[in-house]
Amino acid sequence: MPRPRLLRTSCARPCRRFDQIVTHIEPTGEHVAWRQATEADEAEVRRALATLLEETGIDCRPHAITIRRDGDELALTFHCIADPDASITDAHDLSVQVESFLRKEIPGLGRVIIHMEPDGA
Ligand SMILES: [Zn+2]
Repeated sequence: MPRPRLLRTSCARPCRRFDQIVTHIEPTGEHVAWRQATEADEAEVRRALATLLEETGIDCRPHAITIRRDGDELALTFHCIADPDASITDAHDLSVQVESFLRKEIPGLGRVIIHMEPDGA
């Protein structure tokens, strides 16, 4: 089994308010079908994210957006800003709302990973 060569986190100050951090490592072999998203894919996702605030009232300023094609589906990863004083439960609820909005807006959406991060981090 291949071993990760480098795993580094920078979490001293920004992460203090979180009780738990889950780090996710996946083997490259499972995603051999991954390929670059098309321009149309990118446009669809960016349009949906751009309407998030207007449609849901959630102001999480999505950024660091990565969009890939995973077979017939789109795989999406991005960061979402949350109130630094929000509880884990509130931050989780927010991410569930964002995800369900995106699934409604983007029919071909597969895996979604939302990194919640405290404002000011
Ligand atoms: Zn970020």
